[in-house]
Parts: sequence; C-alpha cells; structure tokens
Amino acid sequence: MTDLHRLSIRELSEGLANAQFSSRELTEHYLKRITKIDAQVKSYVTVTPELALAEADAADTLRKAGGANVLTGVPIAHKDIFCTQGIKTTAGSKILDNFISPYDATVVAKGKASGLVTLGKLNMDEFAMGSTSENSYYGATANPWNLNHVPGGSSGGSAAAVAADLAPFATGTDTGGSIRQPASFCGLTGLKPTYGRVSRFGMIAYASSLDQGGPMARSAEDCAYLMNVMAGHDAKDSTSMNQVVDNYVANLNDTSVKGLRIGIPKQYFNVAGLAEDVKARVEESLKKLEDLGATLVEIDLNMTESYVPTYYLIAPAEASSNLQRFDGVRYGYRCENPVDLMDLYKRSRSEGFGAEVQRRILIGTYALSAGYYDAYYVKAQKVRRLIQQDFLKAFESVDVIAAPSAPTTAYKIGVDLTPVEMYLGDIYTLAVNLAGLPAINAPVGFDQNNLPVGLQLIGNYWSESQLLSVVHQYQQATDWHTQRAAIAEENA
Ligand code: GLN
Repeated sequence: MTDLHRLSIRELSEGLANAQFSSRELTEHYLKRITKIDAQVKSYVTVTPELALAEADAADTLRKAGGANVLTGVPIAHKDIFCTQGIKTTAGSKILDNFISPYDATVVAKGKASGLVTLGKLNMDEFAMGSTSENSYYGATANPWNLNHVPGGSSGGSAAAVAADLAPFATGTDTGGSIRQPASFCGLTGLKPTYGRVSRFGMIAYASSLDQGGPMARSAEDCAYLMNVMAGHDAKDSTSMNQVVDNYVANLNDTSVKGLRIGIPKQYFNVAGLAEDVKARVEESLKKLEDLGATLVEIDLNMTESYVPTYYLIAPAEASSNLQRFDGVRYGYRCENPVDLMDLYKRSRSEGFGAEVQRRILIGTYALSAGYYDAYYVKAQKVRRLIQQDFLKAFESVDVIAAPSAPTTAYKIGVDLTPVEMYLGDIYTLAVNLAGLPAINAPVGFDQNNLPVGLQLIGNYWSESQLLSVVHQYQQATDWHTQRAAIAEENA
C-alpha cells in the first residue's frame, strides 16, 4: 500500500483490526517517508527506527494474541519536550543535547500503554520559547505548505511532521499558544486542554502555571483519539486534576452546532496587525457555523490589551526559576575547563542557552528580584485574575468564544521582527493559558499565498468534548482539514 499516510486515525485503527496491514508495514511506511521527505522539512530532531520497529512487532504480536486495543500499532511522534526513556530529549536546546532521559513522561508512558509506536522526537523552539521554531539549537523547521515559511512554534516540528504526513498525529505543548498557532500555520487541528487535564510529569517545564500538553492532528476526530490517551489524573503532577475523563471519541457527535451561542469579542477583530485574509477566512468560517445553526453574539473582552504584557512577565518569571536546574553540574551541557564553580555555572549557561532563552531568564529574574517583585510580578498576577474574570463573565452568555488563532499566516523563515513584534503575534492565544481554559484551532481556508488560516474556539473549563465536537461538526460539513500540502502528496 503506498497511501497509508492518507488514512485517518480511525481508518488506521480499523485497517489494523481487519489485518489490511500490519503495524510493521505501517511503521516502515512512515519511516521511509521520514527518510525521504524530512530532509526538506526538518521536523524530527531524533528518529527512532529500531525502537519503532520493535514496538510495531510487539503490537502485531499482541494483536495476534487478541490483546490489542483501539490504537495498538498506530505510530506517533512526540514533541522533544516530553522525556523519553533511553532516547535523547533536548527541548530544542544545546544545554540538553547530550541528555538521555532515565524515565518516560506520563504522556509518553500512556502512549506506550495504549500500544502507540514511537517514530521519534520533534523539533521545537528552545524550551518552548518562541513562535517560529527558529529558536531551536537544531535549526529551523520548514512549513510543508511553503518550505520558505516557518511552521509556527513552539510545537513547529509536531505541526510540520503531521502536515507533511511524516506522523499520523503528534503531541504538542501550549504555554501561550504553542499548539494552536503552529496548527493554524500548518492547516491542522490542535487542542490545548484545560490546565490540569493532561499530566505535566516529564514534560520539561517552561512556565509551570501555564504549560499544558495536547494533541495535534488533521481533524478533531484524530485529536479525540489522542486526547483519550493523554488526558487524566496523575499523582506525579500535583496540578493534575482528579476528575472524570470524557471519552472524547464517543462524544464527537454530542454537541450540536444548532443553538450553540458563539461569542465574538469586539476587541479581537479590531486588533492592529490582523491580516485581511485571516479576518476574511475566520469570518467565513463563522458564517458557516451560523448556517449550521449557531448564533453569533457580540461580546466584550476588555482586557485584551493586557494579554501580551501580562504573559511576557509571568512566563519569563516562571522560566527563570524553572531553568535554574540547568547549571552544568547535574546533567546536560558543561563548559570546558571551568576555573571554579561560578565560572562553571556562568559559562555552562551562557554557552548552553540560546539568545531568546537568555533574554527571558534576564527579564524573569529582574521581575522577581527584591524591589521589583510587587511592581511587576504581583501586579501581573492581579491582572491575570482580571483576565480570567473577563472570560468567566463572557461564558455567562455564550457557550464558546471565537477568535483567530494568530493575526497572520506563517512568517517567512528569517523574518526580521523585533522580540516585541514577535510577542504581539501571540495576542490571540496567551489569555487562554493565563485563564487556564481549553481552546482548539481548526483550519478554515487559505490566504492569497496558499498558506493556511486557523479559527480558534475557546471553551469554558473542562469543555474539551464540546470543542472537539463542534469542530467535528464543522469538519463534517467542510473539507479544509482534508487539504494536503504538495509535499504530503509525495510518495516515498
Ligand atoms: N510564543 C509564546 C512564547 O514564546 C508561546 C510559547 C508556548 O506556548 N510554548 O512564549
């Protein structure tokens, strides 16, 4: 079979169950594609063919013995922020270039327990700081829709791998948009779950009060399969919530678009820098949802201007604390010939961290320092609460909130933006993390350069099933999510 990469997760599951193909055949098919095509896309930091084939054979054996479940033998690739036992885990950083994790992240362990086959680890902005994946020590990943453009970030490798059909689905993480924005730039569906829904254990920390893992795939249905694996309480993560997990696949038809009240925040559609094409495609998708029976309700989200400054204070503050552990002593990069301990710390960190990470550590350390703590950090936390309250008030009158996922389509690789200009591109995604809410990106068309545009739907707490369901209904009635980049059509 030459077109196994075109099958959805449900089709892969059925094909394996009906013995149309084995997990080994499927895995070899993907490994061949990676060998042929990823030289252009550069989505993988590490490919794990031996592990993948061993897991595939084990999956086939389990199936013959009658022990298979719905995803046994389906391949996956993980963002290189999830620790994988015995496999290099870099978080896109030189400081972890030699780091072989001694344990699996909970998300990875759950994947293995579900029978998923590990193809490898995917490129990302260093420590998930960035919006282009160019901040990786391993170099830029290309957008499969146009190789001169970025796939977005920080989960750019995950988005590019799925969009080029180099993995059927992938894990990502989202601290301020890193699942939704690359999904938007690459024409994919990506879900950022409610804070606490997916375990953070073994997921290298950026900003712990904002970080959340989630699925990236072609469709809401494919995402639902991966959410069934990823979601759930974990005693090893103190912020993971102990509450019932939905069956996201079974619930895909549970929410009707008919009667759904969709909030349209006035402030969001007046943002300077919102590209005409993006605005037009998002409005067309809302019109489509209206045709399917939804009601559009204009709402106010008055804190919009505070999103970027609040996030870019809190996230670096938490990062400066989290990244203290990379000191050249315990693991990771150590500088050559340190003269004393201070020299070892300083040079290991200066040589091991890239420019953007160093910028954030400096900003964060400054904001947390005595004398500035109240003026910056405490104030940002207060504003964060107001942002959350703004959303809770909106959810009194609407079921979901619609927005673009990003004000533009994918930038050119090497685009000349200042750090602050780059940060402003996160305007639509940051507040969701500050409030801890779930949100999803769905592809809704293309700009004049044939680059994908994404619609974001933000839900109330624990509404993952509803978000997946609404996007599923939209995807039953449209075909944007089935469009493939030319490079994905190439056969290996
Ligand atoms: N672009 C944002 C940042 O650089 C968000 C990144 C993320 O969600 N990990 O912080």
